[in-house]
Amino acid sequence: SDAAALVDRLTAVVPDFPTPGILFRDVTPVFADAEAFSTVCAGLAEPFEGGFTAVAGIEARGFALAGGIAAQTGTGVLTVRKAGKLPGEVLKESYSLEYGEASIELRPGQLPKGSRVLVADDVLATGGTAEASITLLERAGYEVVGIAVLLELDGLGGRDRLASRVPVHALGSAP
Ligand code: IMP
Repeated sequence: SDAAALVDRLTAVVPDFPTPGILFRDVTPVFADAEAFSTVCAGLAEPFEGGFTAVAGIEARGFALAGGIAAQTGTGVLTVRKAGKLPGEVLKESYSLEYGEASIELRPGQLPKGSRVLVADDVLATGGTAEASITLLERAGYEVVGIAVLLELDGLGGRDRLASRVPVHALGSAP
């Protein structure tokens, strides 16, 4: 598709970021290009069109995608945030990283229970962040209709980890 070709063409590959040995995919050039951003947001929403009332963006690049998808589809935005950034009552999920642990949070009660929510992020790697996000949204009483990402990284198990729970839609893939 056009969207997949744009992701492929504009994504930058950065060796040794954020630590030595990691090959980082930088999708921010896709956000900076007006035509590309609009095209990828449409491509992310396309399989789920009409099936959700809000898009949950995963901090931080997921926020931009969630906003773009929501504006195009007439839906709202939820923010899944790194721990300690949200005021008031929060739900929290911890998950393991290669070294150590991370926690993310969601404010419950912003939408009616049973609301259908699409999850958006830039890159799916091991799927740990996305899985914890799905759990948070379900704990808040929502139905997660799917996860949409610009890029899935092969061989890290992300798709397998999530596929038993929700449909996974990736515009592109990378080794
Ligand atoms: P996972 O939890 O291992 O699937 O990692 C996914 C999370 O880490 C997402 O929120 C991504 O934004 C981020 N991430 C992992 N690898 C990359 C990358 O190569 N480029 C950009 N973000 C990445």
